[in-house]
Amino acid sequence: MDMLDASYSHLDFSMSQRAAALATATAAACILIVLVILSLGSQPTVPESERISVVATIYPLAEFARQVGSELVDVQTLTPAGVEPHEFEPTPRAIAGVYEADVFLINGGGVDAWATTVASSAEQAGVQTIEMSTVVGEEAEIDEHYWLSPARVHMEVEVIRDALMEIDPEHANTYNENAERFISELETLDTEYKIGLASCEIDAIVTSHAAFGYLSHDYGFEQIPITGISPEEEPSAGTLAEIAETAKRQGVTYIFFETLVSPELAETLAEEIGAQTLVLNPLEGLTEEEMAAGKNYLSIMRENLVNLRTAMVCE
Ligand code: ZN
Repeated sequence: MDMLDASYSHLDFSMSQRAAALATATAAACILIVLVILSLGSQPTVPESERISVVATIYPLAEFARQVGSELVDVQTLTPAGVEPHEFEPTPRAIAGVYEADVFLINGGGVDAWATTVASSAEQAGVQTIEMSTVVGEEAEIDEHYWLSPARVHMEVEVIRDALMEIDPEHANTYNENAERFISELETLDTEYKIGLASCEIDAIVTSHAAFGYLSHDYGFEQIPITGISPEEEPSAGTLAEIAETAKRQGVTYIFFETLVSPELAETLAEEIGAQTLVLNPLEGLTEEEMAAGKNYLSIMRENLVNLRTAMVCE
């Protein structure tokens, strides 16, 4: 009897010890799982002071920098939301911010001509400055709106990736992976454009300003711009009459207008030739509404494709 009691109490003791060990192990496993979930669920937040500071003149360049740099960069755009950049002038305070940046991205050409002087003095002051016209525009210059052709944007992404890798080699893998992911999204977009515009009844579009030269060149249609390279270059009455004549001859039934420029000229022309109007967004900047709706380069390029297919009557 005594012996039995002793062995029972030994058993009890050993069981409670095991229970305690099990509880400890379970708690440790829970903590581990929580830690794994936390590390998977959100990228570790990089303190602002450690992020690479990038200043871009226009939205598309800022967007490409964000895609490549993800949480490792802090990106500012000089042209505010809803503002058309061609005739924009940044404040002295905004310009001062360029000299504080690690990287300054400018497009070159008329779209941000106001930035060229700042760019050369910022470069002298040690800011790594990239002008896209020297990266993408090495061929015969069509216009300076390189970002509107999905087939060319990878060059801009690659040069941004290289700059970030040089400044921050510790995160080279992240920049490389981000760039590869975005370039593959651009390739998908390029394929959608090629297929979507392969077979169309009309092979010309009437645009607001001459922003779609590379896009029309790369996907095989003609651009008839109402204004010049800049939206502010308004046509004479004679030029407008010629455009109306060409549009009618080409069978155009839609006149495109932009989100950041008054649609008045497009509406006048549409009325004159009995056409309708549609948006073709040159993505020189997003409006507040577009930003609030979560729109971005890729989503607006897809909206553009839908409207191009409508206007050109594509299969
Ligand atoms: Zn433009």
